[in-house]
Amino acid sequence: MTQGRAGAGSSVTPPRELFEILAKPSGPVLCLGHVHPDGDVLGTLLGLGLALGAAGSSVTFAGPHPVPGVLSFLPGSDRWQVWTTAPGHFDVIVMTDCPNSDRSEGLLEGARGPASRVLNIDHHPDNRRYGTIDWIDPSAAATGEMVFDLVRALGLTITPAVALNLFTAIHTDTGSFRYSNTTPRTFRIAAELTAAGADPALVSDRLYQQRARDSLVQLGSVLRRVEVSPDGQVAWLTVPRDFVSREFVESEDLVSYPRSVGRVKVALLLREEAPGTIKVSLRGKGDVPVNEIAHRFGGGGHENAAGCTLSGTLEEATAALLQAVRESMGTARP
Ligand code: 5GP
Ligand code: MN
Repeated sequence: MTQGRAGAGSSVTPPRELFEILAKPSGPVLCLGHVHPDGDVLGTLLGLGLALGAAGSSVTFAGPHPVPGVLSFLPGSDRWQVWTTAPGHFDVIVMTDCPNSDRSEGLLEGARGPASRVLNIDHHPDNRRYGTIDWIDPSAAATGEMVFDLVRALGLTITPAVALNLFTAIHTDTGSFRYSNTTPRTFRIAAELTAAGADPALVSDRLYQQRARDSLVQLGSVLRRVEVSPDGQVAWLTVPRDFVSREFVESEDLVSYPRSVGRVKVALLLREEAPGTIKVSLRGKGDVPVNEIAHRFGGGGHENAAGCTLSGTLEEATAALLQAVRESMGTARP
């Protein structure tokens, strides 16, 4: 249910029903995150939830996994609750940046009563439309752009705390404004958020300049493992379990290193999360739609950034992915 734009790069109007529910929430609001929350989901849930809370709503923030340490600077993250089961039903449940409800690990089903309204706000093209109201805009670089327009449309105050959350959502999903999803709209919104009190230097500092010294040693050992195909078009990095710390893997954007090799069209990160479970991140550069590859393994994502999980050994998963990449490249658009 993407609403029309008034002009290139202008703001997008949220669906009227979604607007009406958030303009006057009738009861407690749950801002519910998906597994392993990243900057876009946390920044949007915290940004919207803080703005609604300041206007008088009772807001709970929760998800199946904690806020990663690197994002603990986000205002409101100290209120994030980690649940294994939902404690009860909520009148309004907001989910952002979450393409399918399985990614809440059962929390959505537990929090959703017969009268609950589920607001599904996302920019993934493969969103499964599990909400009472689905607002999906794949042209948005980040869900942060959509939530900015929503907060504005609701007339809520963009405090420095709200601005910092939304700015971080956009900053992380655009790779610091470097990826092809970055548009004039992205910069217009980032400029407004900066004027409202988001500090770009602080965000860069917290995300990229707070490494533990030991991280550089781990980074060195991981980078030696990058492999590139003989034709130079595919690069991949495998990370066995216990090779480096979990914290390190979760705080670094490791797939950006194979992606950074010149001429590479598809980059992969395969990490052994648990024995027999391999989490894969795929990145493209506009030549090969990597979400189509991820779909073949039950995953999903965007054309240039997608993910999936495979069973088996690291070697088996790598062989299966490389084969699928090759097949996709054979039919890829020129
Ligand atoms: P990342 O590689 O950073 O974990 O994820 C990149 C993109 O792929 C994100 O938009 C994320 O939502 C999506 N993605 C990652 N893993 C999965 C998955 O297992 N299933 C689905 N449907 N999407 C995923
Ligand atoms: Mn996103």
